[in-house]
Amino acid sequence: MNHRAELARELLGHLRSQRAAGVDYVSLGTPRETVPQAAHPATAPPARAPEPETAPNPEQQALIPQAAPAPAPTLAPMAKRRDPGPEPPPLPFDPDADMSLDQLEAAVDGCLRCKLGPGRTNLVFGVGNPAANLVIVGEAPGANEDAEGIPFVGRAGQMLTKMIENVIEVPRQEVYICNILKCRPPGNRNPEPDEIDCCEPYLHKQLAIIQPRLILALGKFAAQWLLQTKTPIGRLRGKFGRYQGIPCLSTYHPAYLLRNPRDKRLVLEDLLKAKAVYHGEAEAEIELFR
Ligand code: SF4
Repeated sequence: MNHRAELARELLGHLRSQRAAGVDYVSLGTPRETVPQAAHPATAPPARAPEPETAPNPEQQALIPQAAPAPAPTLAPMAKRRDPGPEPPPLPFDPDADMSLDQLEAAVDGCLRCKLGPGRTNLVFGVGNPAANLVIVGEAPGANEDAEGIPFVGRAGQMLTKMIENVIEVPRQEVYICNILKCRPPGNRNPEPDEIDCCEPYLHKQLAIIQPRLILALGKFAAQWLLQTKTPIGRLRGKFGRYQGIPCLSTYHPAYLLRNPRDKRLVLEDLLKAKAVYHGEAEAEIELFR
């Protein structure tokens, strides 16, 4: 038996005796402070145990500590609201009732559940195919949408149409498009938490009726609401999470792209992922977990 094989045999014998003594874990590393100092370089022991000449057998493998699996990416949870404020007026529909999108839209028409209602020109409920496989969710209507009662009709809407038709390769009328808020915040300011609280049952019901195969979240507010997280959009974009089991991909809002055209390249990457899933060429790789 050569020297290396003999060392391997001695090492295995040592490990067996350790296991018999109740030791079920050994460190393969040697802490620096425990390395014996050699009296003379010529007689110094090897710093590491020799590699066995063959792969470890199952008995040896059982004694080698296994590396822990890498943790899955997690989402920062939504903060709990400190002051929920007064109860909004009751919903104008039964959330558990079977109903069509048209019936829901008729019920929502005239809503004054939050402070945005009195200031709107038109309520912007949503538009598109009621049996869509892809639902696109934005933030809130802007001035053009408020004037026409249709989501995404201004310059951002034109960009969205290009994103849908030229990149995902689906006619715009085949998808369903809506926002978290159905009424325009004044001056296009960000949605406020109490407004989202009042309006979100409508979006929940829209998605429950349509039951899409895929959701595309546009911008921070849509992505954070759908995924129930405070994780920044820069970390959410390009990754799939789930909204009530449905794969949900986040990307930047077209209005943001109008101000930051350099990031079109990132959005293109994101949309190509959506395209592959939409057309059944790839499975949604869920990367975001709560
Ligand atoms: S934003 Fe939503 S909850 Fe507020 S008034 Fe409009 S439809 Fe009603």
